[in-house]
Amino acid sequence: MEAKLGEFDLIWRFFKAGSESMAQTQINRVLLGIGDDCALLQSDATQSLAVTSDMLVEGRHFFAGANAEWLGHKALAVNLSDLAAMGAKPVGFTLALALPNANADWLAQFSQGLFRLAQQWQCPLIGGDTTQGPLTICITALGHVPAGSAIKRSGAKTGDDIWVSGTLGDARLALGALRKEWSLNPSSLETVLPRMHEPEPRIALGMQLRGIANSALDVSDGLLGDLRHILKASQVNAEVLIDQLPASRTLAEQTQDLRRQCAANGGDDYELCFTAPASKRMEVESLSTALLPLTRIGSITSASNGAEPELILRDANGNPLTNADSMRLTQSFDHFKST
Ligand code: ADP
Ligand code: MG
Repeated sequence: MEAKLGEFDLIWRFFKAGSESMAQTQINRVLLGIGDDCALLQSDATQSLAVTSDMLVEGRHFFAGANAEWLGHKALAVNLSDLAAMGAKPVGFTLALALPNANADWLAQFSQGLFRLAQQWQCPLIGGDTTQGPLTICITALGHVPAGSAIKRSGAKTGDDIWVSGTLGDARLALGALRKEWSLNPSSLETVLPRMHEPEPRIALGMQLRGIANSALDVSDGLLGDLRHILKASQVNAEVLIDQLPASRTLAEQTQDLRRQCAANGGDDYELCFTAPASKRMEVESLSTALLPLTRIGSITSASNGAEPELILRDANGNPLTNADSMRLTQSFDHFKST
């Protein structure tokens, strides 16, 4: 029997090859195609255009009946987060919307959440499409980045420090409590819910990381699985100190197993994970003081010849985790394999 086709296998097999087989003349303005947080197009001599699309589907990315204001915020936030991962500054977005019915109250709340965030980042809505159908929100966001300074997944170098912004795992902790996978007292749930419903795209950080970070991505499917995308694109390995992953006070109060699972593998964090040379530590630390806490969680090591990237996890004492524990923590979300 053929192995189950995963999300990334299918993109690579059916879409990446097709896009790359196009004549060079047609794609000479495409600086970067499928495989990073955004595509990059040559805009003019001084700037590149970063383009990204992300979709939210009812029953898949959010519960039926979810608060419309939060949905408006989140649909744009997850796209701006991809711009942030490349170091791009938002310039505008389009909105494609399938709605089961035209409910004015719902639309008023949705647009309130959407435009509050759009205004915060001076990112106007410039077009879209509207149809009747199962609730689906698809946004395409556009951003600018000075030519040559976009931060790609492929730039990590041996010896780089690995950093992550903010804290990880709260969105997963909240989701698990709502799904009754574990219990959380009501006040703890209150504290972590905003991380699930209203993620904050780290745009200011992404822009400041130009010229400092060698590689970056935003953490949407779980830190360690996402970090593997950097390792693969950059052909390097990594070591991560699993108990050093930044956690909120609420997550830090949970059992070690739950804490590790949520922080390492949670998904929906929308923090930036980036690598930077050790010589840039002072610069990263000043960003950490000026913008939001940045935590050093490990380092990039050299690749083992031609093999899949290796990710070694170490506990608080520096001892490597067992294979079984590592496996469990490094399997991030895949829309087709995880079902
Ligand atoms: P992210 O989580 O950063 O939004 P994804 O994991 O969704 O990125 O996608 C990985 C890469 O595959 C991205 O470069 C994205 O643009 C590309 N991609 C995803 N789906 C498709 C598709 N249907 N056709 C072409 N490219 C796609
Ligand atoms: Mg991304």
